Amino acid sequence: MTKEQFKEDFRRRLQEKFTNEVEEASNGELFDSLGAVIQAYYSDAWKQTRTTIRDNRAKQSYYFSIEFLPGKMLKSNLLNMGLLDIVRDSLEEMNVDLEDLCKVEKDMALGNGGLGRLASCFMDSIASCGLPGNGNGIRYDYGLFKQKFVDGNQVELPDEWLREGNVWEVRKASKAVNVNYGGKVYLKEDEEGRLKPVYENQQVLRAVPYDTGMVGYQNDMVNTLRLWSAEIPEFEESKYLSIEERRDFRDLTSVLYPDDSNYEGRLMRLVQEYFFVSAGIQSIIRSHKRAGIAMKDLAEYTAIHINDTHPALCVAEMMRILIDEEELSWEKAWAITVKTMSYTNHTIMAEALEKWPVFMLREVVPRIYMIIEEIDRRFVKEMSSVVDQEIIERTRIIKGDQVHMAHLAIIGSHSTNGVAKLHSDLLKSIVLHDFYLLYPERFNNKTNGIAQRRWLQLANEPLANVLDETISTSWRSNPNDLHLLMNYKDDEAVLQKLAETKRKNKVRLANYILNATGIEVSPDAIFDVQIKRLHAYKRQLLNLLHILKLYFELKDNPDADIYPRVFIFGAKAAPSYTYAKHVIKCINEAANLINNDEEIQGKLKIVFLENYNVSLAEMIIPAADVSEQISLASKEASGTSNMKLMLDGAVTIATLDGANIEIRDIVGDENIVIFGLTEDEVYSYYETQDYLAIKIYENDLELQRILNAFIDGTIPNIQIEGQEIFDSLIRYNDEYFTLRDYHSYIEAQKTIERLYRDKKRWQQISLINTAEAGHFSSDYTVQRYAEEIWQIEPVKGLKKKG
Ligand SMILES: *Cc1c(COP(=O)(O)O)cnc(C)c1O
Repeated sequence: MTKEQFKEDFRRRLQEKFTNEVEEASNGELFDSLGAVIQAYYSDAWKQTRTTIRDNRAKQSYYFSIEFLPGKMLKSNLLNMGLLDIVRDSLEEMNVDLEDLCKVEKDMALGNGGLGRLASCFMDSIASCGLPGNGNGIRYDYGLFKQKFVDGNQVELPDEWLREGNVWEVRKASKAVNVNYGGKVYLKEDEEGRLKPVYENQQVLRAVPYDTGMVGYQNDMVNTLRLWSAEIPEFEESKYLSIEERRDFRDLTSVLYPDDSNYEGRLMRLVQEYFFVSAGIQSIIRSHKRAGIAMKDLAEYTAIHINDTHPALCVAEMMRILIDEEELSWEKAWAITVKTMSYTNHTIMAEALEKWPVFMLREVVPRIYMIIEEIDRRFVKEMSSVVDQEIIERTRIIKGDQVHMAHLAIIGSHSTNGVAKLHSDLLKSIVLHDFYLLYPERFNNKTNGIAQRRWLQLANEPLANVLDETISTSWRSNPNDLHLLMNYKDDEAVLQKLAETKRKNKVRLANYILNATGIEVSPDAIFDVQIKRLHAYKRQLLNLLHILKLYFELKDNPDADIYPRVFIFGAKAAPSYTYAKHVIKCINEAANLINNDEEIQGKLKIVFLENYNVSLAEMIIPAADVSEQISLASKEASGTSNMKLMLDGAVTIATLDGANIEIRDIVGDENIVIFGLTEDEVYSYYETQDYLAIKIYENDLELQRILNAFIDGTIPNIQIEGQEIFDSLIRYNDEYFTLRDYHSYIEAQKTIERLYRDKKRWQQISLINTAEAGHFSSDYTVQRYAEEIWQIEPVKGLKKKG
């Protein structure tokens, strides 16, 4: 590809589609044309990938996830195709700034947070490792709500991400399938004496796939992310539907449920789950048959991954198709299903464990419910000769009037993994201990990872360039080569260059902050960052307590030697999660108070940026000095923002939770700041039940002053919110041990400040974090999934670019 070639293609496209010249076109037209040209460039490789996989009869994996959170795709596609520099330079020669076009693209935000973002990092890595793996999900018309603050309160606006169209997707009407649900079902013998389901009054939805190419990193591989949209089926009778009825059909895939770490037991959600599961499984079976391979060999060619429990119905839907439609015996169908399926658990939080009332399943998917009953019956029967009745009662799928989706996923698959070492150990020893006794061989760990291409190569070009100059470019394809940077940890010139990249990124973020909020921040201050969904267990509140402590110290002594800090927050709260919204309000009001208090001479600034999403993360993370990973030990399954921030050279202040432990193990105690209760200590409090938050409060004048600020008017405008938070700590005994960890956190923050004052030491720690972060590349994570769970191999024989 030459610049001339690209310019010609780009101009032609703009002319054909918008009858316009580059000089006259709007950014929207330019972006749209650029996207279309890029897509045309990879369309051959996309097709080639499919035919090569088919010709090789290669085993493929399908990653079922109710959420994907890719963010913007323009630069990522350009980078992976090796065209970023050529396109950027060519555009510049036409007086077009690539960054301006990037701003036109809407974030694809079909996910809440970590879960969906992990799925998208995996899609990038699977393609980049040359592995045949596809995504399967829902094409929501509206992504995660847009967050605004009005008087410090979160307000939710719809995210109309499709309004200007989506250049990356391809509607595949020819691959549509029907999804049946509702109605009644009974079994009837056919001529050969087989029991066959007979349906009455079923509803039918047409599931239409929209495919998006997942471009691998400079390897000619393009996998498919297939997202399903609900439409009105093409039957005669559907012509007579009213407008409302038509809307009901489409509404099914209209919105993403905005709950993170929280189970949403609504009927519509259940239909969504069945919808994308059924459409995905049908389409897999269809292409398997088209390839002419026997159904009994399905598991040799197909791996299906259940990402969290939302797609757990995969197990029952696969059984339904194999027995009702393919006429396999139960035993054969079950063996194939278990061998095909694998499951990832993402949480130990009880309120997040999905359970559906029996009556809902009966109503929405009566045949699927029958099959689940039979799976449950056989499970109970089989296990009764092996283990105690109590264990069976605790592990069976249907308990009372509830169907336990995690149990279905574990029983119906050959692999259950957690997402960090600690998390997987907790699953084995406590949360899923009974299952571990039944199926020890099924349990394994796959620590999460992040796509270093997006979070370093694209988001942090200044750092990427210094790395290239220092250790050459091999780290770009082999993230472990970042380790070469360790050779420079005492090289003052390199440390200085790294410091300059951080400062550059901080200046950029400071400008963004000024534009977005009107708040002026100094890039010389410590940028202390906590970005993640707002949840009590993540303890944004603990961060706020530290800020208030510093504030009062300065109020008592305006000349106190406190290093200037900018506290940066980004977080959405689920719209129904009142407590989380109240924390947002309190942080915003504290920000108003502190940012405008001249007495403290600008030493503390609080910036809560609106609408935290992938693009904002790409702006904040490269500018972070401090990474706040302060969840109560045992509650954060892994975390991934901890990995992103480390990669970009932030220093972590953390509890021993999730992947923080693995970060500590790899960088060493001197290069991370650890505080707080351990998981063992948390669990022993649960046993002894002798935690008393009020006792801590009563005996601690410092904490009294800080907590009273929530209820005595010190922080203005939070009468209700402040009281609720105060009560959550004192009256309701501080569920997440915030007060217990407070002093340990304060000490850790003092360590942070002391380290930061030692510029060289800080820069060294920062370097070491970047150097060791290759370990957490999702390339390695997906390779472990490929080898140990899916048994898939890189595709051979893809044509290299000329
Ligand atoms: C990485 C990421 C997350 C996950 O953050 P955690 O701190 O691991 O919970 C959530 N949202 C966005 C936009 C992200 O990029």
